[in-house]
Amino acid sequence: MHDTPPLTLPHGAAPVAVHRPEGRGRAVVVCEHAAAAIPADLGDLGLTAADRLSHAVWDPGAGALAAALSARLDAPLVAGTVSRLVHDCNRPDGSAAACPERVERIAVPGNVGLTAAARSARAARVAAPFHAAVARTLDAAPADAALITVHSFTPVWNGTPRQTRLGLLHDTDARLARAMAATLRPRAELNRPYGPEDGVTHMLARHALPRSLRNVMIEVRSDLLVEPGQVAALADRLARALTAALSDTAAEAAR
Ligand SMILES: [Zn+2]
Repeated sequence: MHDTPPLTLPHGAAPVAVHRPEGRGRAVVVCEHAAAAIPADLGDLGLTAADRLSHAVWDPGAGALAAALSARLDAPLVAGTVSRLVHDCNRPDGSAAACPERVERIAVPGNVGLTAAARSARAARVAAPFHAAVARTLDAAPADAALITVHSFTPVWNGTPRQTRLGLLHDTDARLARAMAATLRPRAELNRPYGPEDGVTHMLARHALPRSLRNVMIEVRSDLLVEPGQVAALADRLARALTAALSDTAAEAAR
């Protein structure tokens, strides 16, 4: 089973952690939804006990997969240490989507009726340091590094089981996603179970596209990330596919 993650962010702790900052691989790994912790002053955002570790709060297994990929690629990892419900760093700063009142069937009372000023304050607290850490890490990375974000999605959405197991999402730059999909077996699906039209490629659009960096958002169904052995095996496959795809697209990256 997933290890129980920290539920409370200690007072004064940063909302982001950079692991393996000295990594010299040609990639930077980002995991926005790695954590379930909520700062003590926000309580539990009114979540029920049953929802407290649900997919609305974090991406179960994504942090472990991101860490394993970071190790295999010798790449830095920028990971959130705060629940996405405080402020989702993969949504525009201070937007309603960044502080959702409801996710699927899960109510978030602590986010209901937030003013624009309150959402902006959340952004200043969480998103500003997070994006600054991503930018600093990319600044220090090789010029042809790729941005790789790692997420998990819930197996059942609004009562409907999802068939997709592994998605490779892209925004307007599909180079890396397509090159990975060409070699990954079993198959990965492009822009499934959702895509840029759902607003989920914010991180790629914000940090990779302006720098013309190759990029991909890896989405794994969370029931495939429960056991450490599953995580390790998938990290092996993804690292191999990523390494090949980075090599296959190197000439384009150097344009
Ligand atoms: Zn996510």
